[in-house]
Amino acid sequence: MIIIDGSAGEGGGQVLRSALGLSLVTGRPFTIENIRGRRKNPGLLRQHLTVVKAACEVGLAECKGAELGSRRLAFVPKGVRPGTYHWTIGSAGSCSLVLQTVLPALMVAAGPADIVIEGGTHNPMAPPFDFLKETFLPLLARMGTKVELELLRSGFYPTGGGKIRVGVEPAAKPQRLTLIERGPTHLSAQALCVGLPAHIGLRELDVCRTKLGLTEKETKLVQLERHGPGNVLTVFARSPQLTEIFTGFGERGVRAEEVAIRLVEQVREYLQSRALVGHHLADQLLIPLALSGGGRFLTTEPSLHTTTNIEVIGRFLDIAIDVSPFHRETWEVRVGR
Ligand code: ATP
Repeated sequence: MIIIDGSAGEGGGQVLRSALGLSLVTGRPFTIENIRGRRKNPGLLRQHLTVVKAACEVGLAECKGAELGSRRLAFVPKGVRPGTYHWTIGSAGSCSLVLQTVLPALMVAAGPADIVIEGGTHNPMAPPFDFLKETFLPLLARMGTKVELELLRSGFYPTGGGKIRVGVEPAAKPQRLTLIERGPTHLSAQALCVGLPAHIGLRELDVCRTKLGLTEKETKLVQLERHGPGNVLTVFARSPQLTEIFTGFGERGVRAEEVAIRLVEQVREYLQSRALVGHHLADQLLIPLALSGGGRFLTTEPSLHTTTNIEVIGRFLDIAIDVSPFHRETWEVRVGR
């Protein structure tokens, strides 16, 4: 039995999700203690509980400790069942994080899966819908797994109420992935205002034009009346091999200009480096790469999420993952040999 300390490294929900995903794929049972031990509100919140329940269903697993607030969980998977699933988080917890937990197992399952997940679709601190669709899933497709993703309804923090549909076609032959050369990068920005006045998005886009040199044509305001309120500013950095996405969220008490300036800083940091893979994508690529025979990528300074994920992967899989400085502000990550 593998024992994981949920307060190690990043010490949040990712330790739990990665352990569940890897346990499903390898069939190796584990116990996790001190779940989300570094958070002010440790233990399983509603979104983490949904993740555990989803993993139990997909892995036909025996599980002890799957309760709200629980800080300890024992998980014994019994296989991987593809098929049809419907999971409802019951809060604005992120649909993407539920999906990312079970995807590794469904990537190597014996048949396709069709999943509906209800909860948040555009959450701060989680992969937003566009990131999943335009950044993460096209890379999975290059590794061999086709995932169709559809936004049925947007859901913002704190109301939630979003809904996505996902179709997963497992990889026949998993492929390595190499992401080294960025090449010419084209920027554009989109401000989404749902149930909020247009001037919020227009002010954000103004900042993007001034500070990132975008033209009028490269900026777009999208205004929707239903399923808000929510404000999401997205910068797309399209290069030949991938579209990196940077996301900022409007917050009560934070000026629209400030939301945009913070986002511009992230984009500049990325552009000043030689990285192709951004800060968030780096930690999320590790498990798929480890399961697809490995690969290499250049990224910005590895986050605690990345180093923690490497530790958790090492508990389940016998695969080397090396991180080394490559160039100014740029690191190389090698998964496997
Ligand atoms: P917590 O235990 O902190 O409540 P959590 O379970 O909600 O945690 P984390 O453990 O912090 O979440 O993991 C968040 C995941 O979401 C990480 O994989 C991170 O890379 C990803 N993420 C966060 N923000 C973004 C973003 N703007 N774009 C893409 N991915 C993101």
